[in-house]
Amino acid sequence: MKHDIVIYGHPALRCKSVSVKTIDDDTRRLADDLLETMYAYVGIGLAAAQIDHAECMCVIDMSQAGDRTDAKLEENDHVAMPMVLINPAITAMEGQQVGSEGCLSFPEIYADVQRADLVTVTYQNLDSKNVVVKATGLLSRALQHEIDHLNGVLFVDRIAPAQKVVLSGKLKRLKKMS
Ligand code: ZN
Repeated sequence: MKHDIVIYGHPALRCKSVSVKTIDDDTRRLADDLLETMYAYVGIGLAAAQIDHAECMCVIDMSQAGDRTDAKLEENDHVAMPMVLINPAITAMEGQQVGSEGCLSFPEIYADVQRADLVTVTYQNLDSKNVVVKATGLLSRALQHEIDHLNGVLFVDRIAPAQKVVLSGKLKRLKKMS
């Protein structure tokens, strides 16, 4: 089922998620809902908090990423899409990348964000298996963005202060709408 996505200013976006203890039919239904909602809004990632759910869970599908010119995309070809990540955590980060980022909870707002270039992420999949994934480039960025959501952190928290000043009017308007 497609859900509404909550917009910046909604308290759900600032909550720390609750870890998923058992992976059952409810978990699978939430995964389906997250994927359906992400595709409906043409995003490449979505966290449960964005549909006002507290579960520590997010989905990513890089095959929907428009920018196939990202040379590093193919370096992540070993990762099957879509990804459903339950209780994900970053265990290692390496290097730096700066790139433009957006978020379905911030319609029409984009900003440069500095992220680690390479990340190692552990999570559980829908079969309750522990998975370790290494990613670079855009997939690495998406993983860091979504895992931030699960900790109540938003991409605007990570932009340079000067850029935040530039965006402050737009951000205020979003907060009023939510
Ligand atoms: Zn986001």
